[in-house]
Amino acid sequence: MRRNLLMLDLDGTVRRPIEGEWCKGENQQLFPGVRQVIDYWKRRGWVVVGVTNQGGVHYGNKSYKECVMEQRITARCAGLKYVYFCPNLGEYCNRISPVLWQRNIDMYARPAFTYRKPGEGMLIEAITWFADEYYSASPYAAQAMLSANIFKCIMVGDRPEDKEAANRIKGCGFIDAALWRNGWTIPLEGLA
Ligand SMILES: [Mg+2]
Repeated sequence: MRRNLLMLDLDGTVRRPIEGEWCKGENQQLFPGVRQVIDYWKRRGWVVVGVTNQGGVHYGNKSYKECVMEQRITARCAGLKYVYFCPNLGEYCNRISPVLWQRNIDMYARPAFTYRKPGEGMLIEAITWFADEYYSASPYAAQAMLSANIFKCIMVGDRPEDKEAANRIKGCGFIDAALWRNGWTIPLEGLA
């Protein structure tokens, strides 16, 4: 099966707070039906990751530890391969896996990149990992392969910065979060 990459914004796209305005730690729930939509894409060969700004850590609204727990819970409940999150204003991002035994947190900090969306840094890191994992591509070839349509890559989000980040990468598509959740893009055969 041909593998493609689906990148999901999390807040307002995949999850929402149970109480108050912001997700934090366990204060979160998936939008109804979102797990089914994710599983639908996965069955069609799409590898699904989360890509989330976590400026709340920088601004002191949540601790880094609460942020990590929050991403791990979402990754596990939603069935995401990884979650990339930017806990600052763009200097670096981290990546966590939902796998219980995989406690390590990966770190990405290339000086040329802005990791906070609308910067495209987190998306580029996800594409680079994906191309290596599924197409044995070198980091230098990943974006060229995407623009040559060797694999597909789509970002889903609820805010302009999600779309802007996707638009900065040649060949990367974008779908509005509400449309995506409602399955309005199904059937996907034209895309896959
Ligand atoms: Mg959002």
